[in-house]
Amino acid sequence: MVSEVRTSPVAGQDYPRTWSQFLDWFGSEEACLCYLERLRWPHGFACPSCGVTDEPNRASRGRLICRACRHQSTVTAGTVFDKTRTPLKVWLAAVWYVTNQKQGVSALGLQRVLGLGSYQTAWAMLHRLRRAMVRPGRDRLKGRVEVDETYLQLSDRERPKSKRRGKSNATKTLVAVAVEVLEPKGFGRIRLQRIRAASEPNVVPFVCAAVEPSAHVHTDGSAAYRYLPDEGYQHTATVMLRARKPAHVTMPGVHRVASLLKRWLLGTHHGAVQPGQLDYYLDEFVFRFNRRTSRSRGLLFYRLLQQAVATGPVTYQHLAGRR
Ligand SMILES: [Zn+2]
Repeated sequence: MVSEVRTSPVAGQDYPRTWSQFLDWFGSEEACLCYLERLRWPHGFACPSCGVTDEPNRASRGRLICRACRHQSTVTAGTVFDKTRTPLKVWLAAVWYVTNQKQGVSALGLQRVLGLGSYQTAWAMLHRLRRAMVRPGRDRLKGRVEVDETYLQLSDRERPKSKRRGKSNATKTLVAVAVEVLEPKGFGRIRLQRIRAASEPNVVPFVCAAVEPSAHVHTDGSAAYRYLPDEGYQHTATVMLRARKPAHVTMPGVHRVASLLKRWLLGTHHGAVQPGQLDYYLDEFVFRFNRRTSRSRGLLFYRLLQQAVATGPVTYQHLAGRR
């Protein structure tokens, strides 16, 4: 397949403009396979085994056979959709729904809207998509960056209340927050990470992973951050205890992001997120926040699918934290 590579995808050509166009494009499994093939190999098929780029031989059930080494693969093998029993039409509809809902969707909501037979299927689909929400090699935050920690109150039960057995336990989890602060006003991108404690061995690696050295990092007066200049950062600490201004005035970015995050977890997910799964919810929140100004929801559909075919498979056992 010879395909043009455009720098910015175009609505109506690279991704559907509307739901009715979506239905037109993705009426069959073959159409979905073709679309994913174009996303996965924009320069044409590359054999996952020997790396040769050449039009493969096509066999039944979407199998692609490399002409050089005879290796058999499919467009979904080695991606988030590997070995799925859910039709690709349903997967694509899920991605459309997840990216078109500004606040995202819970597993129960997805199960209902797609008419899925089981809650587990909806839950596992959402979690597989969350694995694809972090773009490998993404740039670190730059410029002026606020960094702080916030506590989240989580319930250990993710299932709907009617299906719960026994009591749920609420736990407090600490999350590190980094926010780009723009001039003259407004916020840029964010990063979030669950951390064990608000101590130096936890917060400094977070800053190093999330923020470009040479950025200007603004924190509170916590001693955990005092050696940031040794890592190449410019550092301003505001001591809250004696400050005349409350925290939401001195650290408006962190304050705003933390309150939106809490509202999202309570609203879309009813505060019911297992602490062991929190990292993936944080990834979803960051994905949404960093693309909040995107003009087209269809573009988010395109980007998430593009990342999904570039992300490796995850088993259900792994998703559920059982090995
Ligand atoms: Zn090959």
